[in-house]
Amino acid sequence: MPGRNEPSQPSEEYINVILDAPARQLDRPFTYVIPPHLQGKIEIGSVVLVPLLNTQHVAYVLGFCEPPDLPRIRPVKDVVDEPPAFDAEMVELCRWMAGYYLSPLSQALRLVMPPGRTRRVIESIELRQDTGEALENTPPRATRQREVINELAARGGELRLSELRSSMGGRLSASTLNALEQRGVISRRLVIPRPRASRRNVRMVRITEQGRKALDDGAEWSDKAPARLRLLRALVDHGGSMTSPELRHLTRISSSALKTAVEMELVRTWQEERLRDPFADRSFPQQEPHRLNPEQEAALQAIIKAIDARDGRGLLLHGITGSGKTEVYLHAIDHVLNQGRTALVLVPEIALTPQMVQRFKGRLGADVAVLHSRLGLGERYDQWRGIREGRYRVVIGARSALFAPLKDLGLMVIDEEHENTYKEGSAPRYNARDVAVKRAELCGSALVLGSATPSLESRYAAGEGDDVYLKLPKRIDNRPLPGTEVVDMRELSGQGFRNIISPQLVNALGRIYRDGEQAILFLNRRGFARFLQCHSCGHIFQCRNCSVSLCYHARESFLLCHHCGWRWPPPFICPECGNQEHRYAGIGTERVEEELRRLLPPLRCLRMDADTTRHKNAHWDILEDFKAGNAQVLLGTQMIAKGLDIPNITLVGVINADTSLGLPDFRAGERTFQLLTQVSGRAGRGARPGKVIVQTYSPDHYAIASALRGDDDSFCRTELSFRREAGYPPFCHLINMVLTSRGEAHAHSAAGALAEILHPAIKPEDGVLLGPAPSPLARIKGRYRYHLTLKASSLERVARRIEEALTAYEAFRTSYCRQEGISKEDISLTVDVDPVTLL
Ligand code: ADP
Ligand code: ZN
Repeated sequence: MPGRNEPSQPSEEYINVILDAPARQLDRPFTYVIPPHLQGKIEIGSVVLVPLLNTQHVAYVLGFCEPPDLPRIRPVKDVVDEPPAFDAEMVELCRWMAGYYLSPLSQALRLVMPPGRTRRVIESIELRQDTGEALENTPPRATRQREVINELAARGGELRLSELRSSMGGRLSASTLNALEQRGVISRRLVIPRPRASRRNVRMVRITEQGRKALDDGAEWSDKAPARLRLLRALVDHGGSMTSPELRHLTRISSSALKTAVEMELVRTWQEERLRDPFADRSFPQQEPHRLNPEQEAALQAIIKAIDARDGRGLLLHGITGSGKTEVYLHAIDHVLNQGRTALVLVPEIALTPQMVQRFKGRLGADVAVLHSRLGLGERYDQWRGIREGRYRVVIGARSALFAPLKDLGLMVIDEEHENTYKEGSAPRYNARDVAVKRAELCGSALVLGSATPSLESRYAAGEGDDVYLKLPKRIDNRPLPGTEVVDMRELSGQGFRNIISPQLVNALGRIYRDGEQAILFLNRRGFARFLQCHSCGHIFQCRNCSVSLCYHARESFLLCHHCGWRWPPPFICPECGNQEHRYAGIGTERVEEELRRLLPPLRCLRMDADTTRHKNAHWDILEDFKAGNAQVLLGTQMIAKGLDIPNITLVGVINADTSLGLPDFRAGERTFQLLTQVSGRAGRGARPGKVIVQTYSPDHYAIASALRGDDDSFCRTELSFRREAGYPPFCHLINMVLTSRGEAHAHSAAGALAEILHPAIKPEDGVLLGPAPSPLARIKGRYRYHLTLKASSLERVARRIEEALTAYEAFRTSYCRQEGISKEDISLTVDVDPVTLL
């Protein structure tokens, strides 16, 4: 060890950090020394600022370490965020995620940071001279430098380097900036932007003893200072203290009058935090627990056993819709709360959360925190800190709530575990369900995966063992499952029937109206028509940027791409033949709404899909409206298929059961089965029996037929044997690698190069590499897409080799881009481990 003979300096402390930098070559621990003035202020989970080469980075502190055997260790520059953002357990979880999902550790760490607190050092470029002078000082031939000057001048004199780069494309080089800086035309500085979320403080004012005395003998001075008198009176009237804004609103005093009062020590002011509570203006009627039925009780006992074992055990709770799963979760949570531990519940969609939130808050009251992306950032930040400080002991939320900083976690529940929304769409592309398995293992909490239609993966993993596979086969109070009626649309259209809603469904809806009941209509496609087709030449209107057809939205009358949001306003003139008459094909929810209005005018219908739920509380409002009985029909996409528990719903109509069958994806059958089963489960949850009417063109397809029979076992057997034969999960892991570029040739070359690197790296017994081939969605947002799919028998065995291949690919990309004269950002690669779709 160096320096052994020198006097030891026990005060020196070294830390390992991970830089917040997306580059793969920086994704490893770096060591820094804590300078004397920061001693004691840094711990695991601190966020610090550190130097590297000639720049600086935000970095996350992973832990303390021995002095490394290196000539010079640089000191930490500063602490960026005081309270530790995560603990050693979270670091461990992040390490696992980074390894499993083949993505940088810094990206995983960003997930566990408090909401609104992730920051990066950015470089800011400022124009130091006025434009004319700067241009005069710059040689006429230095076109790039002149371009930089003009760009800065046009955008207010200062820009982030990244903004400058994106507006100048690939034309901005380091030497250009250096030349300008050397001549003093520009200056560059590093800044850390303010965090996007912070505590909300409010200034409080309290009257002092002196103030009270002054008020008592106030008559003497009230004429001279009426404002001051008003101020003191108001404070006394309000129990001695108030917030400054309230006080000023009430008394209309100026800020200088308040300031004088402070200086005279008549009042005292201080800052006090005001927590932002997203539910401050909602009340949650208290709800009593139900006494569990024998099946629920058996499931609860198994869960309690797992909780008490404290060894991270996982259970699958397969309970049909309405069988009382949520009730079991609530009882199990009571158990962990009684042990002084905490619980985490994930639900898939925000649309579900209102009912769940009501139920959880109604049962568990102030212990419950809610976390999802529709809350304001400030609200989320406050909930997050409340969780960490132990003010909340139960968290209910969407995917990212998995990383809520609960201590001593006793139970995690993933409700509707089969849902795709648990899969994150950007790196690390984690699946909350699978990460939960790891978190449970690390903290010893029990994990319950609940679903009416478990994923084949979970079903297969649980096997048939009684202690991990729990079943609730019956509805509460033995309420019958709704009867199903299949309407074969092939027959109807053979008879010349052209409507979307069959006579059977129209009759049933008429009955609903007469009897004062309610119905759900389900169609998994928003908009009016899936595409618009030219009547004379058959051309289908396509997105300019994506290889998909444009959907027609009738109310606002435009064609919209559901991938990139590009709009085609009227008139719709066929680009092929100039014709202006078109045919709408492929129905969407908007079209159903219109036909409903035409066929059953008195019926009131609420529509719930991505188009009607843009604003913050839209889901909540629509559901409340429906529950209050203000409409007979709730029409919507998959967001209404799940979780709704409204007793008055006695009819479910499925407009087209086949929409998800046609997708070229290995999960198409499973998705169809799940959606049909889930949506059917919405009917007959009250005292009156329910009915499901399913319109389909393929009543004999095994996914549809078994869903209609409620025959889960037979579906699973058939689907599993297909998957085994074709080599798909759960019999292997998939890793999908997608290469995209605006230039088709670039995407193609990059995919070819990656394939060439990967092929020799993967041994035949470890996996099969498919591709490269164009993705089924061959172009999105103007970028061509090629993909490679690896089917791996075990991720552990291929992970290292893929990491190496990705590094080699990076080197290829750098030299290829230089050779082609394009910027590195022009070719991008996403790596998706366990993708939910291969589209
Ligand atoms: P799931 O989560 O499986 O869909 P829920 O827990 O929501 O089922 O239960 C369905 C309905 O039955 C709810 O209205 C719930 O309040 C009620 N319920 C659940 N368990 C019981 C029980 N043991 N006794 C009476 N009612 C119950
Ligand atoms: Zn598009």
